[in-house]
Amino acid sequence: MVSKPFKPISSQDAVVCRNISKVWAEGTKRAHVALRDVDLDVTPGEFIVLLGPSGCGKSTLLYLIAGLERESGGEVWSFGDRVAGPSPERSLIFQETSLFPWLTVGQNASFGLSIRGESAGARRTAAREVLARVGLTEAIDKRPDELSGGMRQRVAVARALAMRPKVLLMDEPFAALDVQTRAKMQDFLLDVWRDSRASVLFVTHHIDEAVALADRVVVSRHVRAASRRSCRSIFPARAIRFPRKPNCCAGN
Ligand code: ADP
Repeated sequence: MVSKPFKPISSQDAVVCRNISKVWAEGTKRAHVALRDVDLDVTPGEFIVLLGPSGCGKSTLLYLIAGLERESGGEVWSFGDRVAGPSPERSLIFQETSLFPWLTVGQNASFGLSIRGESAGARRTAAREVLARVGLTEAIDKRPDELSGGMRQRVAVARALAMRPKVLLMDEPFAALDVQTRAKMQDFLLDVWRDSRASVLFVTHHIDEAVALADRVVVSRHVRAASRRSCRSIFPARAIRFPRKPNCCAGN
């Protein structure tokens, strides 16, 4: 079979994965192929959901796009630059919020800015702004253990937004939440996404979550190694936007 030629990578592409492979523990007896020949193009502002069974390589793909791991083969690009390491332009949010328990919500939200060396005043202003966007203004001086699971995930989203990312990478961020809170967080995320205009790559293994959130769902059907043949995009953007009605995910 002759494969279709790819369009050239441009500075307009939010993410481009070309022929990606990833072998964990490469060159050892424990070598494991997590991804093989994966191609993915993400346009600016697009909301993509990666859907597939546990172990098919969804998280691995996010780590490569985040720049936390290097690909074994192929190339990852973002806005015209080859991804060679982490960048504030690409924020990764995990299932476990990993907030610092000894810091206040405000300090957690602006943590990335402190690494960047921004002043206390600038950090406080940014924390106020992003916490307002996630509906947690009142919690700015609380500690993470005073918040519910859903509120802690909002702080994690606020911390990511404070860095003004162009790409939000979300690895099953609502998996630990109860069904009702998860539904509310999905609505909340759609509001934040529309407001931020970032591209989102969201990993889940829940079909209902994928359909509720995505412009496009990329499905991996193989448990062992996702390949170009086993990854396909389903649902055209217009069809998937249909479920986005007010309160469609509110769980009531
Ligand atoms: P998914 O997110 O789809 O559940 P992962 O990307 O987490 O899948 O994992 C894909 C495969 O790669 C799994 O078989 C997993 O055990 C393996 N894997 C993931 N991370 C590592 C690692 N750090 N070292 C070795 N193998 C790993």
